[in-house]
Amino acid sequence: MPYKFTFDLSRIPRFFFTEITKVGYQKGLHKKIGKITLEIVKKFKIQEMTGLNLSDAVVLLEDLIDIQARNFLERDKFVRTNKRVLFLPHCSRKYMDNRCKAKFDPEIPSYICAHCSPDCLINKAVTAAEKKGYDVYIIPGGSCIPKILKAKRYEGVVGVACGEEIKLGGEILAKMGIPGQAVPLIKNGCANTIFSLENLLNVL
Ligand code: SF4
Repeated sequence: MPYKFTFDLSRIPRFFFTEITKVGYQKGLHKKIGKITLEIVKKFKIQEMTGLNLSDAVVLLEDLIDIQARNFLERDKFVRTNKRVLFLPHCSRKYMDNRCKAKFDPEIPSYICAHCSPDCLINKAVTAAEKKGYDVYIIPGGSCIPKILKAKRYEGVVGVACGEEIKLGGEILAKMGIPGQAVPLIKNGCANTIFSLENLLNVL
């Protein structure tokens, strides 16, 4: 389920994400993080930069910290896997109309990128992940994941999505006993969503 609010963290300094990762590690080590979320909201002027109200900004940051904590806890198991898959959100394609030359295969279900635009974020992610041996699916929603995982028996999963979808995906993986790593969107919405390619490359 997507957030009830939209956000765009793409203009926030990169140091913000380093800080989130650091706090996520602390949380993963079961350290008390107390009021840190609120302090980060204020330090990076998240409300002013994004237009979010305080409670939405806190929800968003808590989810980002939880994602990093979970990545930290799952990392060892994940790096020992061989057959891995990457799930990408179709809303990060450069175009959502017929200028995107990806074909949708409903049997999988996934878009198959045709690499029509060198500056398309999905194109860059697909190319990098396939080079590392990943199978890649560009999916319309998290509900497609169980079908693909059951059919292909992947050992490790990397997923790019908004925090809410990542939570649901994490529950699916926990039930199936598959270690995962997640990369959160830094701009959500129905189209032109953004994730950090640098963050993804660090996780793959
Ligand atoms: S590069 Fe791939 S995902 Fe991006 S617009 Fe072209 S076909 Fe669609």
